[in-house]
Amino acid sequence: MTTPAAPQFRNQPITGCHAPWDILALSVVIPVFNEEGNIALLCERLFRVLDRLAITFEVIAVNDGSNDRSLERLRDQASSLAQLRIVDLRRNFGQTAALMAGIDHARGDVVVMIDADLQNDPEDIPELLEKIREGYDVVSGWRQDRKDAPLRRNFVSRIANGLISRISGVPLADYGCTLKAYRRDILQGVRLYGEMHRFIPIYASWMGAKIVEVRVLHHPRRSGKSKYGLERVFKVLLDLIVVKFLDRHFVKPIYVFGGFGVFSFALCVMSTLWMLYLKLADGVSMILTPLPLISAMTFLVSCMSILMGLLAEMLVRTYFESQQRTAYAVRTLINFDR
Ligand code: UDP
Ligand code: MG
Repeated sequence: MTTPAAPQFRNQPITGCHAPWDILALSVVIPVFNEEGNIALLCERLFRVLDRLAITFEVIAVNDGSNDRSLERLRDQASSLAQLRIVDLRRNFGQTAALMAGIDHARGDVVVMIDADLQNDPEDIPELLEKIREGYDVVSGWRQDRKDAPLRRNFVSRIANGLISRISGVPLADYGCTLKAYRRDILQGVRLYGEMHRFIPIYASWMGAKIVEVRVLHHPRRSGKSKYGLERVFKVLLDLIVVKFLDRHFVKPIYVFGGFGVFSFALCVMSTLWMLYLKLADGVSMILTPLPLISAMTFLVSCMSILMGLLAEMLVRTYFESQQRTAYAVRTLINFDR
């Protein structure tokens, strides 16, 4: 939604935790893959909005191995725009990796992500920031009037959004919209793979983030073509399973593997008892039934599962300790020295 200039930002920190000019207030991250026709207008419109806000900002364009003249176009712009920074990746790593590179190089208190093809509208950024100032940690754009292929994109994505919301327990109408704003500390420690940038709000909500959705404008693509087809839906759904698994069981994988092992062992016990009952009560020969095979299989599976659970526990320990990660996230520390 379009908001007029926001003079209330002048000389005020966005997040309330830093003095306004001692660090950057805002980093805008843009993934760029073969967008040569869009870059000039994108920069013009983006900088018009950001200049109006009167906050310190940087724009980080991540060139994701474009094989057109996107990098040249970005360089042209950067020669006159000091706040435009370019991260040039060695090859095409995909949108998620490009966003991750942008996050890693961002220094702002708040990170806003936006597509390079002007399907998102930079005019929506002030409203996202306004919500951050109200105290939200994640502000998610919602393309209510989406301008993509109705059936192939919009319908499929509506189903996908419903599914992701149900499975993750974080109800959002539009996971796929790149235009979102995050407080920097929420992104700390988030590592993204595959198609997972759309799941950042889910990770954030596990850390106790406050999330809000804001309706944003959406335009048809101006120049170039979409980099995605239907196959992305399957990747997103597979990633969702991974995210779900990591959510509940990442800290204690033995609960999943061990739980399955115990279940399998219970089956083994039942099948053995049944086999003995048939033998002793009815005199049925054991090898005339599939029960010995079932007992042996379920016994093996239960042993393997429990052992795999122990292995997974070791992996998790290694992971947490090597990354110096904790199993908790602190919101604020009071009366601690910075
Ligand atoms: N993009 C990227 N790397 C890729 C594919 C896409 O950086 O491998 C960028 C692309 O330049 C654009 C954004 O990701 O800024 C979204 O891509 P696209 O517009 O093709 O997706 P759609 O809007 O069709 O979902
Ligand atoms: Mg697009």
